[in-house]
Amino acid sequence: QKVDLTEMLEEVVDRFSFQLRQKAITVSVKVEDRQQNAWLDRDGIDQVLDNLVSNAIKYTLDGGSIDISARSHESGQLAIAIKDTGIGIPKKDLQRIFERFYRVDKARSRNMGGTGLGLSIAREIVRAHGGAIAIDSDMNVGTVVTVLLPIVPEGSESA
Ligand code: ATP
Ligand code: MG
Repeated sequence: QKVDLTEMLEEVVDRFSFQLRQKAITVSVKVEDRQQNAWLDRDGIDQVLDNLVSNAIKYTLDGGSIDISARSHESGQLAIAIKDTGIGIPKKDLQRIFERFYRVDKARSRNMGGTGLGLSIAREIVRAHGGAIAIDSDMNVGTVVTVLLPIVPEGSESA
C-alpha cells in the first residue's frame, strides 16, 4: 500500500520508546525530500524494521545513538538504513550473520537473550519483496544495515 515513510519510521521508533528511554539512546529519523512516499507491504517491512531496530538497541551501549534514514538509491530502489553506535560485528562474522541461529561470540550473546533468527527472518522478508539487505560494521564503532526495496513510483495503481 502507499506508505508515508516518515510516519512508518517514526512509528517503529515509537514501538521501542520504552527500551530507548531505558538505555538513554537517542534516535534520529531522516527521509529524503523526494522520497516521502513509497508503495510497500507495510506489515512485512514493519517486521524487518522491528528486527533491525531491536538489534540496534540491543547491541548499543547506554547513551548511544541510532540514525534511521530513507533515500532513493542509485539503483532506483528505496534504501532504508539503520545505523547504530554499538559494539559492532567482527569483519570475519559479517558474511555469516544472516544465517539462521548465527550469533557473534556466544559469550557476549548469552547474556543478551535472543535466538539468532532476527536477521535471517529480515533477509527472507526483504528477498520475498524483491529487495536486498546488506550489513557493514566496525568493532566498537557501530553497525549499519541497509535495506534496498523496489518501489513502485508514485501515481502507480499496483503493488
Ligand atoms: P533474535 O533477533 O533472534 O532475538 P539475535 O539478535 O541474536 O537474536 P540476529 O538478529 O539474527 O539474532 O543477529 C545475529 C547476531 O548478529 C547477533 O547475535 C549479534 O551478535 C549480531 N548483531 C546483529 N545486529 C547487530 C548490531 N546492530 N550490532 C552488533 N551486533 C549485531
Ligand atoms: Mg536480533
